[in-house]
Amino acid sequence: RPRVLSGMQPSGNSLHLGNYLGALVNWVKTQHDYQTLFFIPDMHAITVAQDPAQLRERTRKTAAQYIAGGIDVDKSILFVQSHVPEHAQLAWVLNCITGFGEASRMTQFKDKSAKGGAEAASVGLFTYPVLMAADILLYRPQGVPVGDDQRQHVELARDLAKRFNHRFGETFTVPEAFIQKEGARIYDLQNPTAKMSKSASGPNGLINLMDDPKVTAKRIKSAVTDADTVIAHDRENKPGVTNLLEILSTLTEKPIQSLVADYEGKMYGHLKADVSEAVVARIEPIRSRTLELLDDPGELDRLLAQGAAKARGIAAETLADVYAKVGFLPPM
Ligand code: ATP
Ligand code: MG
Repeated sequence: RPRVLSGMQPSGNSLHLGNYLGALVNWVKTQHDYQTLFFIPDMHAITVAQDPAQLRERTRKTAAQYIAGGIDVDKSILFVQSHVPEHAQLAWVLNCITGFGEASRMTQFKDKSAKGGAEAASVGLFTYPVLMAADILLYRPQGVPVGDDQRQHVELARDLAKRFNHRFGETFTVPEAFIQKEGARIYDLQNPTAKMSKSASGPNGLINLMDDPKVTAKRIKSAVTDADTVIAHDRENKPGVTNLLEILSTLTEKPIQSLVADYEGKMYGHLKADVSEAVVARIEPIRSRTLELLDDPGELDRLLAQGAAKARGIAAETLADVYAKVGFLPPM
């Protein structure tokens, strides 16, 4: 079976509805047709400052949310990036075939370092896309399901795979980015022209999987709409209402046009109440399952250790091949 791999940073206190509908739901579906690997990129998280105790807690919590959201540890290999040292080892080799200019063209570095300036940013943040290429290429997957924001990074992974293969002989599979369709993009409730984001959204802009249902209901109730009262799908002129309609349509699997017809003559309050009900009905079981899993951290750590052992089985083989091809003397 073809293989796919993906991950989400443990950078927030909770995954949000965008992470869930834009990524996790699709990951769960790929489990039927692909050999799937899902990991928690804790090494990527430290490219910006993290509190160590919090990072540990968020790494477990992210793993618990993957499982609660439908990742089946019997079908998928679920692991923590830092548990598989081959990621860092391959990243070094790839760093040595990446051009400085090439790395400088990555837009995420420009965006994420914009605040403090490139001088203040870490070298880790600069070389992040190379580590991400290593994450991918180690497992020789055919596809990488990611959001549109990651297209450039997957493109770099493809370039590095081709370059290495050309220079040292056929080693890596050149992976495709499986970019999710439009509509899977969820916008900030308070600022509906920007995407919902763990790091960029304020608390009231977010629908978090781990929030109390009352908090979620309140945030949806105070979501920004607009001055008129017509419920219509119009991203340009009615981004707030459009976001709510898209969330409802995704959750209920009802086409937007039939929702718009249902709400003819109704008020925003009706739409918000229905969105709230649909969101809570979907995320509440995930929240309670996550909390249950977190109640037994020993069991969670055991599952992650099992996942890491399986991942290493694949990663070690690729790394040995790479080390031999670049000319490293075997240790014995
Ligand atoms: P950060 O702000 O720290 O970058 P994020 O909210 O953008 O966090 P990521 O960890 O970067 O989340 O992304 C994890 C996955 O979720 C990716 O596949 C990404 O494309 C997807 N994703 C993130 N935000 C949204 C969104 N608002 N709508 C749909 N998908 C999203
Ligand atoms: Mg992001």
